[in-house]
Amino acid sequence: MNDTIHLDADAVLRRFAEEREKRLRPEGFGQYLRLTEDMDRDPWTVRQERPPVADHVTFTFVGGGWAGLLTGAELAKRGIHDVRIIDRAGDFGGVWYWNRYPGVMCDSPAALYLPLLEETGHMPSMKYAFQPEILEHCQRIGRHFGLYDKALFHTSVERAEWDEAARLWRITTDRGDSFTSTYLSLGLGFFSTPKLPGIPGIETFKGKAFHAARWDYAYTGGSPADPRLDRLTDKRVAVIGTGATAIQCIGPVSETAKELYVFQRTPSAVSPRGNGPVDEAWFRSIATPGWQKRYNDAYVRDWTGLWGQPFSLEPSLDPLDDDFAKFAARLRSVILSVPAEIRNPVTVKAALDKASVEIVSEVHEYIRGMVSDPDTAEKLLPWYRPLCKRPTFNDDYLHAYNRPGTRLVDTDGKGVEAITETAVIANGTEYPVDCIIYASGFEFAKDPLRALKFEVLGVGGVDLRSRWAQGVRSLHGLHTRGFPNMFTVQLAQGADFAANVPTGWQDAGETIALIVDHMRQQGLSRVEVEEADELAWSQQIAATPPMPDTRDCTPGLLTFEGGTDPRIALLSGVPEGPRGFFAMMAGWKWSGDFAGLEFQQ
Ligand code: NDP
Repeated sequence: MNDTIHLDADAVLRRFAEEREKRLRPEGFGQYLRLTEDMDRDPWTVRQERPPVADHVTFTFVGGGWAGLLTGAELAKRGIHDVRIIDRAGDFGGVWYWNRYPGVMCDSPAALYLPLLEETGHMPSMKYAFQPEILEHCQRIGRHFGLYDKALFHTSVERAEWDEAARLWRITTDRGDSFTSTYLSLGLGFFSTPKLPGIPGIETFKGKAFHAARWDYAYTGGSPADPRLDRLTDKRVAVIGTGATAIQCIGPVSETAKELYVFQRTPSAVSPRGNGPVDEAWFRSIATPGWQKRYNDAYVRDWTGLWGQPFSLEPSLDPLDDDFAKFAARLRSVILSVPAEIRNPVTVKAALDKASVEIVSEVHEYIRGMVSDPDTAEKLLPWYRPLCKRPTFNDDYLHAYNRPGTRLVDTDGKGVEAITETAVIANGTEYPVDCIIYASGFEFAKDPLRALKFEVLGVGGVDLRSRWAQGVRSLHGLHTRGFPNMFTVQLAQGADFAANVPTGWQDAGETIALIVDHMRQQGLSRVEVEEADELAWSQQIAATPPMPDTRDCTPGLLTFEGGTDPRIALLSGVPEGPRGFFAMMAGWKWSGDFAGLEFQQ
């Protein structure tokens, strides 16, 4: 135990509240801007001209990230290969296609995060994989399951319309494509739209400016595979934002930039990463048939209960020695430390408060130990509960502040004040820079309508936007009344964050594939959710209390920037949590009854 743990817990909790108050903004999501067309260009693949398609396919999936790949793979496993995946990117990968900034990696262990390892025969090279390996794995899945054959890249759907008479979807795109599809699935991602801070004067800056998700290696030097940014040696660089993206890219930038100013509104909680190569003998020893599902189940189980769902009393498994899992195990043991006979939301909250103070104090101690300038170290200390914002893990970020050219500009929760033609202004001081890198995040599309940028017209021409105007309505997050033969693969009303994102998408893909396979075998042509089942499911979701530990959080994407729109209640996952959801879905989909769905010949 360290000294800081003896901090006055009440004082720390008061500080959490004060820091939150500083950051609450009435504009919520409205404080952000979308990228200009110029900033949003694809830096990675040259757009190829191609003739428009005008054919029919069995299945169309909009979105080429994990959701599309895993649904395509599950369909292919059942012999359904007539699948078209569409994406505005130049290849598969979703966030891993776009985000190639230096240092980008995934914080879930690769053995878990990279799906279908058994099927594709890949062994991860590192405990935590860097982006090039993850993107390669997306491409590997695409090749392995034949998903490239009909894919359309650099293509944006403009409209999808249900044709009741023909019982199919009519789909048009910005490339002049006009084709039909028996089924339509939307997997639009929840981090697909980068955002910029709405800082006064942002449009006036005359130097180089880009979002981290559209990294400009021509300007910085280096490449995703070799992130030595050798063209920054004579440049003054600003990074705006200190979230998970910034934590990863600031190390490489600070190594070469002549001057680096990091503009901080809220510090991230940073812990050590401890990455390393995967030991082949170890991997072979665990990779027995069915291993990845077993490991996934253990991971999901370890996280269950932390957001107020029924709590699993089983001991933690953590077979991959993962830091996220350790974190979950720690919180679980805190909850279990409350005697069963008095364990209730109030006593559990009190125990978690105590643990939050301890965990935050430990993070503080780590930061103080890593950063040599005490004033900078103090400014880097996070003051919020551990689950309010995403914890980060990195061995290079804090060290960056020990390099002579790197300077933290903390704004005490206020953010950057203004941008001029040549400088960033914060705390009344002007910082002249040659380049601004926006590590300012993404529109958090837990509300799937935020990611939907085209018309989806169901029965009678009803637009999905108007159908969901008062909030998402679905069965299992997948089926919406009035939108036959359509599946939405997204976070709301299902497993929610399944601790490891691809786990949720794989489960959804399997469900979809089983329904489509069932219809093929039974000669059915139309499926739609029953109205009463959709209503009951959505009502159950709306009645789910919000995650208890985030109600008094500092604002951020996990808390909808402090928003209070009542439609947020419909964006929760099921009350049983991911584990309960997957168990329920397994029974539902494998029974072959598909209760709540209405099938027609
Ligand atoms: P975030 O939304 O987490 O961070 C955006 C940053 O920009 C925040 O620090 C925010 O401050 C700051 N900001 C916004 N407006 C201003 C302003 N006006 N002035 C100064 N700073 C400002 O985006 P990220 O891209 O970092 O991460 C998004 C998500 O992507 C993560 O939560 C994670 O889920 C995922 N991700 C996962 C990774 C992994 O697995 N390793 C790596 C990277 C991302 P404030 O906090 O005050 O809002």
